Amino acid sequence: MTNKLQRIGIMGGTFDPIHFGHLVTAEAVRDQFNLDKVIFVPSGNPPHKVKRNITDKKIRYLMTILATVTNPYFEVSAIEIDREGYTYTIDTLKEFKNIYGEETQIFFITGADAILEILTWKNAEELLKMCNFVAATRPGYAGDSISEKIEYIKRIYDKEIFQVTVPSLAISSTDIRNRVFEGRPIKYLLPESVERYIEKAGLYKRG
Ligand code: ATP
Ligand code: MG
Repeated sequence: MTNKLQRIGIMGGTFDPIHFGHLVTAEAVRDQFNLDKVIFVPSGNPPHKVKRNITDKKIRYLMTILATVTNPYFEVSAIEIDREGYTYTIDTLKEFKNIYGEETQIFFITGADAILEILTWKNAEELLKMCNFVAATRPGYAGDSISEKIEYIKRIYDKEIFQVTVPSLAISSTDIRNRVFEGRPIKYLLPESVERYIEKAGLYKRG
């Protein structure tokens, strides 16, 4: 055993389905922040996404596994899908701290849109103290409002939010679901294994 402090990235998401925007972001942050690994955490029942029918969590978990097999630094955790009721990031982070130890440095990776909402998350202040946040640029989300939010968090909570620029990928799960629904191609937007699985399971189809 070495005593080297572990640096772990956590990439939370609905992943309905997972796509290259998620994967390229996780890999860029892993590289720039020298992380030992990135753990993808598919959400269970997220309190903020009750509007639409979300694909069964076991299926989203499976697609996340399929998408990450080719990267030795990527892992998938069932921590949230195994939990009953609504799932909150604060509980997940506490569980990871228990598993990996209090000293382990955790980097929570989000797209820029998630940073805009972060203060509305459960126990936001405690959350900010517990880990580092890395906000990745995401096409379509104005840089100004994000920088303002980051400055505000710095001022009020004395907490730095790291910003990274990843190769711009205007890919979203919403767009992929719409494409399948309308019978348009999704090729090159997500790993082929996930594309095949969506086809096989008949996900997102009309009717
Ligand atoms: P949906 O359209 O259903 O909301 P999504 O594409 O936003 O799906 P989520 O599962 O909601 O995917 O996102 C999980 C995390 O990944 C969030 O922090 C989100 O900001 C980030 N993310 C998603 N797509 C990208 C992208 N293209 N570039 C950078 N970050 C992204
Ligand atoms: Mg989203």
